[in-house]
Formats: sequence, C-alpha cells, structure tokens
Amino acid sequence: MRVMKLKVALFAVLLAAPSLLAQNQTVRIHAATVLDGAGKTLRNATIVVQGSKITSIETGTPARGSSATYELGQLTVLPGMIDVHAHVGWHFDKDGRYAARPGSPAQEILYSAENAYVTLLAGFTTVQSPGQPNDVELRDAIARGVFPGPRILTSIRQINERSGTPDEIRQKVRQLKTDGADVIKIFASASIRDGGTQTMTDEQLNAVCGESNAQGMRTMVHAHSPESIKASVNAGCLQIEHGVFATDEVLKLMADKGVYFDPNVGVVLQNYLKNRDKYNGIGNYNDEGFAFMEKGLGLNKTMIQKAVATPKLMMVLGTDAVAGAHGHNADEIVERVRQGGQKPMDAIISATSMAAKSLRLSGTIGTLAAGYEADIVGLDGDPLTDITAVTRVAFVMRGGKVYKR
Ligand SMILES: [Zn+2]
Repeated sequence: MRVMKLKVALFAVLLAAPSLLAQNQTVRIHAATVLDGAGKTLRNATIVVQGSKITSIETGTPARGSSATYELGQLTVLPGMIDVHAHVGWHFDKDGRYAARPGSPAQEILYSAENAYVTLLAGFTTVQSPGQPNDVELRDAIARGVFPGPRILTSIRQINERSGTPDEIRQKVRQLKTDGADVIKIFASASIRDGGTQTMTDEQLNAVCGESNAQGMRTMVHAHSPESIKASVNAGCLQIEHGVFATDEVLKLMADKGVYFDPNVGVVLQNYLKNRDKYNGIGNYNDEGFAFMEKGLGLNKTMIQKAVATPKLMMVLGTDAVAGAHGHNADEIVERVRQGGQKPMDAIISATSMAAKSLRLSGTIGTLAAGYEADIVGLDGDPLTDITAVTRVAFVMRGGKVYKR
C-alpha cells in the first residue's frame, strides 16, 4: 500500500515537473516602443512573461541585474495580431491550381498546417476560420502546444439558403455547438462573383441568429448587399463580413446595433487577381467572376472610406485569406489605412483588442497587460508613421514560446 502511494506521488511529481519549470522561468522582453493594442503607447518598456502569460509590464530603464532575455531594441512591439476571417485550409495543389476538391485527409491537413505556420510567422497568433471540418483537428493539434500555429477558432461548417426550414436550421446550430464549433458562419448573400444579392430568407436568418444567440454562440455573416446586411442585423446576427455594397444607412445600422463589421479590402480580391491563372475556369472563377472582382476593388475603396467615417462602427480585422494569401494577412491593415484613411492606431486596435472582443476573448488576448496570454510580436519600423511596418514581422511569441526572432 505504501509503495503504491509512493509510486502515485512520484508519478504526480514527474507529470508536474515540466510545467513547473516552464512556469518558473521568467522571460523579459525589452523594446523602445510597445503598443498595448488598446490604444496606449509605452516607451522603453519591458514585458515580463512567466509560462504562457504576461505577469507585468515595466517602463523606464530596467533595474540592474534584470537584463532582457530578448532585447528587441528599436522594434515596435504589439499584441499578436488576430485575423477574424481566414480560410486556413485553402491551398493550391501540386499542379499549381486552386484545389477546389479535397485531396486525401493527410494532404488536406498538412496543407492547412503549412498555412497555419506561415500565418503565425506573419505575426498572426489567432485566426478564425469560417470553416471546414478538419479545422477541428488542426485547432486541437495546435492547442496541444507542440505543433506551431496560431490559435484557431472555427465554424466547422456553414449555414446557407439550402440549409432547410427554420426548424431544421435551428437543429443545425445546436449540432454545430455539440460538434465544438467556435462560431456559426452564415451566407446571407451570394458571392461577389455572383452579384452579392440576398440569398437566405428573413425567416431563415431569424432562425439561425436567434438560435445562435439562445445557445450563446457567436455569428458571422457573409453579406454584400445592403438588404442582406440589414436583414442579418435585424435578425440579431453579431458580425457582418465583406459588405462590398454597404451604404451609409447600413453602416450606421451596424454601429447603432453594436454589430461588428469585417470589411475585406486589402487581401482577398488582390490575391485572386494576382493568381488569376490558378483559379480561372474553376466554378464561378470565370471571366464574369473576375470582372466582378476587378470592379470590387473600386467598390471596396468607396465602402471602406464610408465605413471609416461612420462614428462608433466597430471594425475588426479580417482578410478572407484563401489559397495564395496566407502569410499576407497584414496587407489588410495597410490597405485600410491607405485606401480607407483609417488612423494607423485604429487599424492596429481592430487587429488586436477589438478583434479579441469580437471573439469574446478580450480578457485573454489582443492586449498587452498583466494576466493576458504572452502573444507578442515585434515589427521592424513604426506602424504609426509607416503602416507597412505591420508586414515586417521580426519577432513572434505565442503563449510564451518564441517562433521567430
Ligand atoms: Zn470567406
């Protein structure tokens, strides 16, 4: 009996040992400038990390004998960036063409893993995927803490106009919750390549967002046309994606109702046009579709200027990154400033604390402060004077582990 107890105790010590060691190791990151993600700029700051979390941030000259583990010098430090809309599984096949049909499960998960890794190295430590079934395995593998990638949130599947009667849709929402979805992804309108008009009925939208709210699930809605945005907001949906044809009226409606808006003006269309040969001839990636997308660039510019000018509109950073775009996520921040005239600090907040709030993770990520996850990136340059600095990521830490230096 005594031997047994001793064995159990030893086993417990062995199990606990690695995590105790990691927790006790204090890491200090010093930089000339730290943006906390919530709007504050700190000078000559040291972020103290223990295990996976920030324990304190000190400003001023570091005390004697407390030298920095990572001296980042003139890099600008900010919270790990968050992309609330990235299709982490989309990829080109070995023939260089967009993989419209899935390959073997092993191929698919490895492409997803590659995309996750390049996204992490680009300074994005959290990504919401709107979504595919194997996201669950990817999410859980990264969360185990060995495989490098951003924290993943996923919708697993989507709800659209073919998802059935309101009752059937409500059932599907409950099933998604059971299956471990982090968010419900909804298609309220057609693709920009098909004109973007409303596809789901108001009754279907009421069912999906009403049931999601009742189940405590967040919602994100693909909606381009003003009527599809309006119907989604009125149905109680919480976040609107894309919104190429958003008018002043629906922008104001989103602001008034506290609905998050995730316009995508800097990555997705540019990426499709740049990789036209790799998509052309597959589904609605045809001449007409590409003509819509070319027109979309100009429409997006008009829309983002209106969105930026809408008081109290809560804009979050999402790219709609597809095959070819992974790792270029920060271009979205650049274009919101360049085309939309958004203030650089506001664009950074939308990619950090505001995005975290939209994910209901505002106490965990998106801000540099004591108690938050140590998701920390360092930029070569000052994004407040040159926004392209967000694309020059020289240091990446996620959950206290360094992945790029
Ligand atoms: Zn999308």
